[in-house]
Amino acid sequence: MISKILIANRGEIALRVLRACKELGIATVAVHSTADADAMHVRLADESVCIGPPPSRESYLNIHQIVAACEITGADAVHPGYGFLSENAKFADILDAHGITFIGPTAEHIRIMGDKITAKLTAQELGIPVVPGSDGEVKPENALEIARKIGFPVLIKATAGGGGRGMKVARTEADLEEAVSTARSEALAAFGNDAVYMEKYLGKPRHIEIQVVGDGEGNAIHLGERDCSLQRRHQKVWEEANSPALNVEQRMKIGQVCADAMKKLKYRGAGTIEFLYENGEFYFIEMNTRLQVEHPITEAITGIDLVHEQIRVASGGGLSVKQEDIVFSGHAIECRINAEDPRTFVPSPGTITHFHAPGGLGVRVDSGAYAGYRIPPYYDSLIGKLIVHGRTRVECMMRLRRVLDEFVVDGIKTTLPLFQDLVSNPDIANGDYDIHWLENYLAGDKAH
Ligand code: ADP
Repeated sequence: MISKILIANRGEIALRVLRACKELGIATVAVHSTADADAMHVRLADESVCIGPPPSRESYLNIHQIVAACEITGADAVHPGYGFLSENAKFADILDAHGITFIGPTAEHIRIMGDKITAKLTAQELGIPVVPGSDGEVKPENALEIARKIGFPVLIKATAGGGGRGMKVARTEADLEEAVSTARSEALAAFGNDAVYMEKYLGKPRHIEIQVVGDGEGNAIHLGERDCSLQRRHQKVWEEANSPALNVEQRMKIGQVCADAMKKLKYRGAGTIEFLYENGEFYFIEMNTRLQVEHPITEAITGIDLVHEQIRVASGGGLSVKQEDIVFSGHAIECRINAEDPRTFVPSPGTITHFHAPGGLGVRVDSGAYAGYRIPPYYDSLIGKLIVHGRTRVECMMRLRRVLDEFVVDGIKTTLPLFQDLVSNPDIANGDYDIHWLENYLAGDKAH
């Protein structure tokens, strides 16, 4: 059994994990950099340890300091949240060597899914539909032959990719050479690895992902899908569950494919299988072996606490529900609130002077922000997430509109005004959007 969890993260996700630990009666340890000494997760944890100066490399990514903090406090497990060390197989191995439970999948599964080529081949072997593309790495000298076989347009992607970096489209043969060489140099700069592969470029897909949880013993469930098509520079901005594009049969079919794959893999913990969806077909793009930012919308429609499930399976307690007992109820939308200018998306760190979170039925705000809180300039600009649930999509949208008017964050710029625009847009109201919609909208309407 796990009795004390060290939360190796910061911001809203550290607070989110802390809440789950408290509900399960598990003691908590917060870690923080010197820039986060006054953060809410530090205030609310049972114990806290300062692990270094502001730069992430020296604090939240510093494995030695985190292991030392476990030893000092006697924490017997670590929850990595998302980002930072959450998909670092070496970290999972090191914790294992110290007899500390990593709340996540095995290091082997993190490695398989962390390399995009291996992940794609594994997905294919597990019966998951994938995007047509190269069998493995593409070298500049073979690129043309492979691209002709796949058919233009093609997308060059970094094997070690993440955050949309090292990704380039070649629409015609003439673009190919440059796309391959730019993707390779971007990949080298971002990931220290210039290997790239090639995929068919889908023109107007939606991004639909399936939430899975496995117990590591061969049992696994799916918790339906999330539609994360509204993106800016491949970063999700607004997410919904269920997807406005799927019906129940489609949901249960792709969900079952994913759950069956996770059973075969004996996957442990929470994971997300990401697809592009076009003309009724799903195409696997990657699997994230961790909790995702947008997990609360799945919690809203299923009533299942995903962090509770992660902790249960990590301590050998198995899953709390069977597939047939999961009920998908209503509709949920999440808006990511960033400390950024809503027009230029330039980060806007500073001190929050007033903070009023909305409330009422079907409203959840995950945020560590408070009046007087100074947002440090060193980290991600996400300061909170607004999650709204309604019995229908229409009710959810009406509620979101009401809630956005109530939300007050003064002293800094935030992306809240963008959501006020989106919630009254007819395409959004109709659920009629693909992964390019938001960028086109922003490019065409600079006024908002
Ligand atoms: P990363 O790990 O860098 O985020 P992903 O493989 O998850 O990379 O892709 C990120 C985004 O890039 C997707 O959500 C989608 O918008 C776009 N994308 C990826 N693969 C394709 C493809 N084959 N065709 C069109 N767009 C794609």
